[in-house]
Amino acid sequence: MSSGRFVPSTSLPQLRWTRAVWLLVVSVSAGCGGGGLIPALPVAPGADQVDAESVDARIILIGDGGEVSDRRDQVLATLVTEVGFAPTKTAVVFLGDNVYDDGLTPPNGTPDQRELLRVQLAAAAGAAHVIMLPGNHDWYSGGAGLRAQEAFVESYGANATFLPDSAGCPGPDAVHVASTALLVILDTEWIIREGAGTDSINYRAACPGETTAGAMAELKRIVDGEQTRQVFVVAHHPLRTVGRHLCHQWYRKIIRCGPGDIPHERNVAMRSAIEGALSENPPFMYAAGHDHSLQLFKSDTPGKARYMMVSGSVTKATGVSTADGLVYAENASGFMTVDLLDGGRRQLLRVVQPGGTVRFSCWLDQGCRN
Ligand SMILES: [Zn+2]
Repeated sequence: MSSGRFVPSTSLPQLRWTRAVWLLVVSVSAGCGGGGLIPALPVAPGADQVDAESVDARIILIGDGGEVSDRRDQVLATLVTEVGFAPTKTAVVFLGDNVYDDGLTPPNGTPDQRELLRVQLAAAAGAAHVIMLPGNHDWYSGGAGLRAQEAFVESYGANATFLPDSAGCPGPDAVHVASTALLVILDTEWIIREGAGTDSINYRAACPGETTAGAMAELKRIVDGEQTRQVFVVAHHPLRTVGRHLCHQWYRKIIRCGPGDIPHERNVAMRSAIEGALSENPPFMYAAGHDHSLQLFKSDTPGKARYMMVSGSVTKATGVSTADGLVYAENASGFMTVDLLDGGRRQLLRVVQPGGTVRFSCWLDQGCRN
């Protein structure tokens, strides 16, 4: 299945026809169990052009970069440019699976494992904040492997941090970006696995005394206490996805869904715990990686995050299907940026692909209707 072609935004009638054809292609491809392409929605002229002076903060959300590939190198080269736009106002969040397959092997990781981290950190190095959070793969060398990754990241530069703090704990931790954004960082792999006493990795022992209930109470306290900033909850596992981890393919009836997949009972419990904690004061955005695609969802439902995104396609891209509320999705490499302007009241989302192509953009404050 090809990753498809860009849909040119020419005239609106022509665009509707083009979209209709693409939706047909998507329906057919989804029906055969593979990935499809949701066409980029029309982009208003100039919607992706703001000047650096008017940006209060730029949040770059990028994930699943822990593997050597040409694709990774192209995406990271593009990241350097996107950081360079307004470096002192920029936060880069690496959304986990920073080192395939098993994170850093204790005590310090192999040279190849450290190199996987180094190239990602180097690409983001100009940003005011560089945050790495753990994914399931980073956990596969246990709490000691996670602490090794934390030590490497934090020795890289003063602006680089591995969060949640005290690697091996679920968080949440909070980071202010300028006066307009609040990043709230969670370790969802810990939350998924906390109750699993039979796992070879003892997640609970990596953070003695912590419980999901305790972490969720703290999450609620943080989001309830924020009055003015736009809140971005960031973690490895999505709360919604139309990618492979939706685990809806026909062969999944044979190969069962795992804890990293949406239908699995531990995944359901993790999402329910987080959504419960966020329900009174839902965040502006919940951003995750884990699925190797680019996805943006919008919700007008009270008690839900207004937007959710998946941005986990640095090293590879896999298929997507369709769903209600899906604004954009594509099986393509790249990452997303959110620029906050006018004290955070306006927010421009951009999907950036290798070479700096802005594949999709929209004003989130306008409901992505441009
Ligand atoms: Zn993952």
